[in-house]
Amino acid sequence: EAAINRIAAGEVVERPASAVKELVENALDAGARRIEVAQAEGGKTLIRVTDDGCGIPAGDLPLALARHATSKIDGSDLLNIHSFGFRGEALPSLGAVGRLTITSRAAGGEGARITVSGGQMGQVTPAALSRGTVVELRDLFYATPARLKFLRSDRAEAQAIADVIKRLAMAEPFVGFTLRDVSGGGEGRVTFRADAETGDLFDALHRRLGRVLGHEFAENALPIEATREEITLTGYAALPTYSRGSSVAQYLFVNGRPVRDKLLIGALRGAYADFLSRDRHPAAVLFVDCDPHLVDVNVHPAKAEVRFRAPGVVRGLIVSALRHALAEAGH
Ligand code: ADP
Ligand code: MG
Repeated sequence: EAAINRIAAGEVVERPASAVKELVENALDAGARRIEVAQAEGGKTLIRVTDDGCGIPAGDLPLALARHATSKIDGSDLLNIHSFGFRGEALPSLGAVGRLTITSRAAGGEGARITVSGGQMGQVTPAALSRGTVVELRDLFYATPARLKFLRSDRAEAQAIADVIKRLAMAEPFVGFTLRDVSGGGEGRVTFRADAETGDLFDALHRRLGRVLGHEFAENALPIEATREEITLTGYAALPTYSRGSSVAQYLFVNGRPVRDKLLIGALRGAYADFLSRDRHPAAVLFVDCDPHLVDVNVHPAKAEVRFRAPGVVRGLIVSALRHALAEAGH
């Protein structure tokens, strides 16, 4: 069992940033409005995610750590996936590759804690907590030194964690995010912070993108809103004159999930083909939303790729919506 968990864990948890992604997505699934992430030594020695979400009842803590136990799907409809999690793999995987402690308190219940280390689950014990969940992962890959060796510098791993947080922060403007570096102990140092936005979605998203990508992006971004055959596209796309130098600012989401998908990237490039030379990349933050039955997100455990039922419709939607917005802006 422990060996199987460790092998499977490698697919879900490649590096500290992938652990952070799974934990923050769990917090979002739990309806958190504030999420605080702390990391030490690039997440190698400590990752801690604190949320104010629904919590886990004490009696369910061992279940949350059991492989393929998920509270988010009943198994009858694998395609109808609305939340981030659906495999029930993240927590058991993390418990197999590090020292994992979950402290949680659900509404109407008492706080409780459970620890898993090297796949060995401890007892549930009472713990003080006002609400929500704190997941702490220490000494990632301590039991698999071969994997530890493949991690990059603390600085590079910390950067990858910040990228994950920023990507999720773009998709969730109404949720507040704080990232701290606690390598030196104590409260540490805040390295990224975006308070929960309020008001209309487009305004909130615009302010959040200014916060995450910088005010120059926000000032040069055109709002995008279009629908075709029940697939909607929303977000902001930058004017072709906006340039981030050599860095690529393309953030694509399908049903709220960050993806790096060839079809979507190709459509984005296609929309700007007449305005940008091959060596320059259009900058955009785009959300494709559709009925879960129209897209398969179950392609890879890292969930970065998707497969659309009607790829031509999605491509056409993106190209025409962006070209229309650019034309309106005088291009
Ligand atoms: P999945 O997210 O695919 O369901 P996980 O292994 O990530 O699987 O989590 C297992 C279960 O633990 C979840 O289905 C959920 O019920 C519970 N859980 C995990 N993290 C949290 C959290 N931050 N708040 C509330 N419940 C959580
Ligand atoms: Mg999960």
